[in-house]
Amino acid sequence: MNLFRHHINVWTVALFFLIVGLALMSSCSQNLNSNSTSGGKGTAAEAQTFVTEAEKRLFDLNVKFSRADWVKSTFITDDTEALSAEANKEVIAATTELADQSRRFDGLDLPYDTARKLKLLKLSLTLPAPKDPAERDELTKLAASLEGDYGKGKYCPDGDKGKCLSLGDMEEIMGSSRDPEELKRIWLGWHQVSPPYRKDYVRFVELSNKGAQEMGFKDTGAMWRAKYDMEPDAFAAEMERLWQQVKPLYDSLYTYTRRKLTAKYGKDVVPPDGPIPAHLLGNMWAQQWGNIYPLLKPEGTGDRGYDLTQILKSRNTDAKQMVQFGESFFTSLGFDSLPQTFWQRSMLVKPTDHEAVCHASAWDIDYEKDVRLKMCIQINEEDFTTVHHELGHNYYQMAYAGQPFLYRDSANDGFHEAIGDTMALSVTPPYLKQIGLIDKVPDQSADIGFLLQRALDKVAFLPFGYLVDQWRWKVFSGEVSPNDYNKAWWDLRLKYQGIAPPAPRSEQDFDAGAKYHVPANTPYARYFLAAILQFQFHRALCHEAGFNGPLYHVLNLRKQESGREVETNVGNGFEQTVARSAKSDDR
Ligand SMILES: [Zn+2]
Repeated sequence: MNLFRHHINVWTVALFFLIVGLALMSSCSQNLNSNSTSGGKGTAAEAQTFVTEAEKRLFDLNVKFSRADWVKSTFITDDTEALSAEANKEVIAATTELADQSRRFDGLDLPYDTARKLKLLKLSLTLPAPKDPAERDELTKLAASLEGDYGKGKYCPDGDKGKCLSLGDMEEIMGSSRDPEELKRIWLGWHQVSPPYRKDYVRFVELSNKGAQEMGFKDTGAMWRAKYDMEPDAFAAEMERLWQQVKPLYDSLYTYTRRKLTAKYGKDVVPPDGPIPAHLLGNMWAQQWGNIYPLLKPEGTGDRGYDLTQILKSRNTDAKQMVQFGESFFTSLGFDSLPQTFWQRSMLVKPTDHEAVCHASAWDIDYEKDVRLKMCIQINEEDFTTVHHELGHNYYQMAYAGQPFLYRDSANDGFHEAIGDTMALSVTPPYLKQIGLIDKVPDQSADIGFLLQRALDKVAFLPFGYLVDQWRWKVFSGEVSPNDYNKAWWDLRLKYQGIAPPAPRSEQDFDAGAKYHVPANTPYARYFLAAILQFQFHRALCHEAGFNGPLYHVLNLRKQESGREVETNVGNGFEQTVARSAKSDDR
C-alpha cells in the first residue's frame, strides 16, 4: 500500500486507516480489488486532503519524468530511452492509482476546485496504461522506442555507406525542389522509416486501450475526446461542425492550387480533375503549402514585396538570434525576458555527434521557471514563425506557474497551441519594418500575395489538422483494424485533403507513422482547434488594442495592455476548463 508515499502527514495517515478500517467493517462483502484502497464513500474534507496530497506526489513524479524525457529527446540512446520509460511508468502508475482511489468521492457535493481537480486527475494521462506491471512496463518502453525510432529516422539514397539525409535535410528539399522525380524519391525515402515500427504501434494501441478501459473509458481516443468539457461524441461533432464552416475556404484554395500545379507540371503529373499528388505541395506531409508560394503567386499582384528567408540568410542570422527575435516580440508586449536558464539549457541546433528528436517542442521542466526550447532551427521564414509558436508555449507555461499543480496547463490543449500562433500572426510587414528586417512596408498591392501566403499555411492545414485524429480515433476504437491502417490513412487523406500518394501504397507501409505525432502519441485535434482559435484571439486582441483597420495589418498589438490581457487570461490555466503535459510540440 503506497498511498501518499510523498509528504506524508500523520493526521492524514491516521484518518486514512480509520476510514479504511471502517469501510472494511461495514462492507465485508464489498469486492475490493487489490489495487483499490478506497473502501467506502469519502467526505468532502477527505477529498480536499486527497487532492492536495495527490498534487504533491504527481508534481514530484512529473518533474522527474520531464528531466529524464528531456535527456532522452536531446540525446537518444538505449539507456536514456530506458530511463525515460521508467520515469514515465511511475507517473502513469501513480496517476492511475490516484484516479482509482478518487472514485470514492464520486457523487459527493464538493467545492468547485476539488471537484474540478478530481476530474482533471482522471483525464490527465495521454497514455493510459494497464495496471498489470508487466504490461505497463511493455507499453512505456514501446512509447519511448517509437518516438526514438522516429527521431533517429533517416534516408540513405546510396545505401548505408553513402551520405544519409536527416528529416531536416529532406524537409528542406521538399520545400525547395521543383523536380517531381526528386520530390518523389525523397518522399518515398522518408516514408520507409515507419514500416519497421508498424507492429510495435499495433501493440501500443492494444495496451493503451486496455489502460483506458480500466480507467472507465471506451478506448484511448474516447479518453482524449473527453478533455474538452463536453461528452466525447459532442466534441467529435463540434470538430465536424467547425470543419464544415471552413471547408469552402479550403475548397477554393485547393482548386486554385491544383490549377497552378497542373500548369507547372502538366496534366500527366497533376490531373486537373483528380487528387493532387502529396509530394508536390512543398511539405513532407502536404500539411502546409507556403513553400510553393512562388508557383502559385497571382500574376501582376503576387509580389509579396520581400523574402524573409533571404533576408535572414543574408544577415547571417544564427539560431540564437532567431529565438531572440521571438523573445523581443513577447517583451515588447510587456512580458518578461526569458530566464537565463532558458539560454543555458535549451537545444537550438541539431547536435552533430549524437541522435536527438528534432521535432520542435517547448518544455516546462519544473513547472516553474525552467522552460526550454528543443528545436533544430533552420534559418528560414518557416522556423522564424515556429520560434514564435514555441515561445508562446513557454510564456504560457510561465504564466500559469503560480497555479496549483493540476491547473498548470491550458484551458484546453487547443489554447496552448493557439497562443504562439496568435503572436506570430502579428509578424506582419509593419512589424518586420519596425524591427529592422525590411526597409519599407510594401504598398497595398502586395496584400493579396501576403494573404495568399498566409492561407497556404493556415487554410491548407485545416483538413490535415482534422484528419490525423480521425484516423487515430478509428484506430483506437477498432473501427480501423491493423490490417487496414494504411488504406484508412489514405482514404482520409483523399476525403479531406484531396491528395494521393506519389506511388502505390500497401499494408506493408505505415504512412501515418511517418508523422511525428503518431509514434510520439501526441493528440492532434489541438492543432485544428488552434488554427481556428488563433484568429479569434487575434481579432479580440486587435479590438482590445483599439485597432479598427484590416486585421492582417495590425501592428498596435505591441502595446502593453494587450500583452497583459494575454497574460491574465492564460495565467488562469486549467482552472476554468480541461490535459496536462510538460512538453508542447510543434504541429
Ligand atoms: Zn505547439
